[in-house]
Amino acid sequence: MTDTTLWHQRAQSLTLPSQAFIDGRFVDAASGETFESINPATGDVLTTVASCGVADADAAVAAARNAFEDRRWAGQAPAARKAVLLKFAELIEAHRDELALLESLDMGKPIRDALSYDAPATARAIAWHAEAVDKLYDEVAPVGDDALALITREPLGVVAAIVPWNFPLVMAAWKLGPALATGNSVILKPSEKSPLSALKLAELAKQAGLPDGVFNVLPGFGHTVGEALAMHMDVDCITFTGSTAVGKHLLECAGKSNMKRAFMECGGKSAHIVCADCEDLDKAAATAAAAICYNQGEVCTAGSRLLVDNAIKGAFLDKLVAQLAQWQPSDPLHPDTPMGAMVDRMQYDRVCQYIDLGLSEGATLLAGGPPKGEGPGLFIPPTILSDMTPEHTLAREEIFGPVLSVIGFDGLEEAIRIANDSDYGLAAGLWTGNIANAIRGSRALRAGTVFVNNWDGGDMTMPFGGYKQSGNGRDKSLHAMEKYTELKSTWIEL
Ligand code: NAD
Repeated sequence: MTDTTLWHQRAQSLTLPSQAFIDGRFVDAASGETFESINPATGDVLTTVASCGVADADAAVAAARNAFEDRRWAGQAPAARKAVLLKFAELIEAHRDELALLESLDMGKPIRDALSYDAPATARAIAWHAEAVDKLYDEVAPVGDDALALITREPLGVVAAIVPWNFPLVMAAWKLGPALATGNSVILKPSEKSPLSALKLAELAKQAGLPDGVFNVLPGFGHTVGEALAMHMDVDCITFTGSTAVGKHLLECAGKSNMKRAFMECGGKSAHIVCADCEDLDKAAATAAAAICYNQGEVCTAGSRLLVDNAIKGAFLDKLVAQLAQWQPSDPLHPDTPMGAMVDRMQYDRVCQYIDLGLSEGATLLAGGPPKGEGPGLFIPPTILSDMTPEHTLAREEIFGPVLSVIGFDGLEEAIRIANDSDYGLAAGLWTGNIANAIRGSRALRAGTVFVNNWDGGDMTMPFGGYKQSGNGRDKSLHAMEKYTELKSTWIEL
C-alpha cells in the first residue's frame, strides 16, 4: 500500500469533530443550525459543524467569565498553569497525524506541511509560552523610603480569539499560548472554512486538565458569532488574525462596545527585493519560488511582490521559472505534494479573477496562468506576472494565492521606495552581498519583519506582526504576553 493510499484510508476512518465546546462540554449550537465543512481537493462534504450564534457566544462568555472570576485558572501558580499547558502541548504532539490530517482535509494544505510544520509548531507555541510564564518577574519602582511601589501584570479576563483558515492551528496557538499562560479565559472562533482542528484542540485541552470554561471553541460565521464576540460587553479583549477589512471592522466594534483591547494581525503585500549584488541567485530564486508557493500562496507573509534589479532581472527570472517545476499542485494527501488546493470556491475564483485582471492590465505571463480544466479540486498553478509597475492593481492588493507580481528597479534606493509604497507593512525581504546595504535597507523597510538573505526565517523567540494596515500588537515572543495582561500600579504608603 502506498503512503497516499494510507492517508486516504486514514481520512476515511477519521472521527470528525462537529460540536461547539462550551464550559467543558461538546454541545450543538443553541439554534441547532449547522454548516458544511468541504474538502477543497475533492469537493466532498466532510461533515456538518455547529453554526454558533449570539446565544452560544453569550453562553461561552458567561462560562469564561465564571471561570475567570472564581480564579480556577488565573489563581493557580504560574508553575501549575505551565504543567497543564505542557501536557496540552504533549497531547498535540501525540496527535500530530490526526491534527495534520484534519488540517489538510479541511483547507487543502499538503499533508507534508501539516505534519512537518502546522502540528508541531502548534505544540511548540503552547509549550514556549508555558515554559516562559513561571520565569517572568514583576517590578518594584525606585521610590523613597515612604512608599512601596509595585508594577504588576494581571490577566485581562475573557479573551476572544478570532482566527483565519490558512494556518488554523498555528494562528490559534499563537494566541492561546500567551493568553492561557497568563491566566485568561479564552474563546476561540475558528474560520467557518476550517473549523475542525480547533475542535480537536478543545478535546485535547480538556484531557490535559484545563479547567472547564477556561477554553471554549465556537465554530461559525464571522457575521454571526464573530460579530457577537466582537460587540460583547463582557469580553475584555479581541485578538484577531485575518483580513485588513475585517480587522478594521473589529476595531470599530471594540470602540462601539466596551473599548475591549483589540489586537489585529492582518494582511500583507510583502516586497521581496533581489539586488544586483546578491551573492547566490540560485538560492534567492529557490526562496522566491517557495515564498509565493508555500501553502498555495495563502500566507500573510507571502513574498507576493518580487522586486528585481533590472541589471539581473532576465537571468533571475529564468532561474525562478525553472524552480516552479517543483511546485505544481496536486493531491494534498500525497506525501510529496508541495502545493495543495485553494481553500474554497470563493478564494479560487478570487485568485483567478486577479490573474485575468493582471493580464488585462498588460502584465507579461511568465508561468502558470488561469487554471485549465474544471475538476472538482480547486488547484491553481504557480503564476508569475512580470513587467508590472507599482501602480498595477496586482502590485498593490493582497491576492492570497500563488500569484507573483514582478517589478524591476534600478538600485536599492528605488527598491526601498517601491517596497514602502504600500498600505501594508507585514514583511519584507532583501538579498544582497553588501553588509551596509543589508543594514541600511533593513532599517529603511517599513515592515514588522525583515528577512535578509532568506525568507520566513524566525522562531518563537521573535515577535510577529505588522506596520501600517497589516495590524497592531505582536504575536509570538514574550511581547505577545504583554497583550494579554493589564499593567497595574500599586502605591503603598508606609
Ligand atoms: P477574514 O478576515 O475573512 O476572516 C478571519 C476570521 O474573521 C474568520 O474567523 C472569520 O469568520 C472572522 N470574521 C469575518 N467577519 C467577521 C465579523 N464581521 N466579525 C467578527 N469576525 C469576523 O480572513 P481570512 O480570509 O480567514 O484569512 C485571510 C486573511 O488573513 C489574509 O488577509 C491574511 O493576510 C490574513 N492573515 C494574517 C496573518 C498575520 O499574522 N498578520 C496571518 C494569517 C493570515
